[in-house]
Amino acid sequence: MIHPQPLRTLPTSTRHPVSATHDPTFAFGPTELASPDRRVNMVGMSDRWWFGTCVVLAAAACGAPPEPVPPVECQTAWAEEEARAFVEALVSGTQSDRTVWPGYTLRDGSYVLDAGPSETGGACVGLWRAGRAIAFASLADAPTLLTPLYGYYFNAEWHGAPDEPMLARAVQPPSWRTWLEGLGVESAIVMPVTVSGFPIALPAFVKVQLAVHEGFHVVVQAPRWYAATGAWPEWDRQPDRAGVRACYAASEGIKSIFAAERATLVQLVNHLLDRDSARACSTGAVFMMERTNRHAMLDGVHVARHDGTLASCSEAEAIMELEEGTADYASWTVLFDLGQTTRDRLIRRYEAQQDDMYYLTGAMQLHATQLMAPDRMEEISRSIIESRSVDDGSLTATLDRTLTSYCAVPPG
Ligand SMILES: [Zn+2]
Repeated sequence: MIHPQPLRTLPTSTRHPVSATHDPTFAFGPTELASPDRRVNMVGMSDRWWFGTCVVLAAAACGAPPEPVPPVECQTAWAEEEARAFVEALVSGTQSDRTVWPGYTLRDGSYVLDAGPSETGGACVGLWRAGRAIAFASLADAPTLLTPLYGYYFNAEWHGAPDEPMLARAVQPPSWRTWLEGLGVESAIVMPVTVSGFPIALPAFVKVQLAVHEGFHVVVQAPRWYAATGAWPEWDRQPDRAGVRACYAASEGIKSIFAAERATLVQLVNHLLDRDSARACSTGAVFMMERTNRHAMLDGVHVARHDGTLASCSEAEAIMELEEGTADYASWTVLFDLGQTTRDRLIRRYEAQQDDMYYLTGAMQLHATQLMAPDRMEEISRSIIESRSVDDGSLTATLDRTLTSYCAVPPG
């Protein structure tokens, strides 16, 4: 599966190590708790204006706000096949109001696409939110990207503009700030339509998955990481993410043991998708045992915590699974649930080869949890948010508890 893994490592240094190496992964933005009232009002005002105008004009075509149109000098750029495919997939993937995390739905992220240079040399940009185009513009500057795949925008007041190096690195040029402030946007993911220098063309769905993954970091996690607020556990501090790789590959033996453990987890998801609860319960028990055994074998392997002290693989993996696995669940798994991709593609993603396996193992554990307790996800995610320690709030502990209650009920 195409995952921009190699680009996920950024030079770093910040209060939250995440910032640093955090993959195309975090950004920050408003959380539902920091309610982006100004943005909502702005869009709402536009809707009300249109409704009022419709009443006055009694126009037959009224009923929806007018679709914004790109500036003339950008119409060619937006008509390109790659731009149209990205926009179509983004609109389709971000219009659901399904709750992904307490207070957060796919409609809550703001996405700015950069279709490339206009005929007069500016950057052709468009803003989408809740599956709708909000505005287009031709801006004087190219955006600031953190990797070739994406960048972030935060307005000047984001959560009181904490003194956070990551925020400084994400600052957009003046023309962008003026445009997005005028639109009342608090935070956004910025993505080029065409990724320069990337060895292969990314399918539109993969770009949307990345956008939504980043959106989760920005809207849900970043407020906790950088502004000590939001619906995310307080104990989450990113360890040395590159160091976690040793937990999967400390030796050839560990590599093959981990491969078997990951395959068991894929099997668990497949059995649950097949509604085969008997096999799911036996496979879930095997996964727990394999994971416990591997961690016991990794006794001599440690990963540096954010403060430099040493953590076990069990702890470090759990933190990274929560940070990245949940963001992948919020994108890959939820988009699968909404029919945006197929089971085959999802499973291929879960089976992908990459160094940072916590993206996959985290997403799979949360997916398995959701499949066993679809009606309890709000309660389960709240228990993660409110957990007091990594041992209590990890996705593995969550899966273990869910397996226990799911498997206590005789199949049938
Ligand atoms: Zn990420």
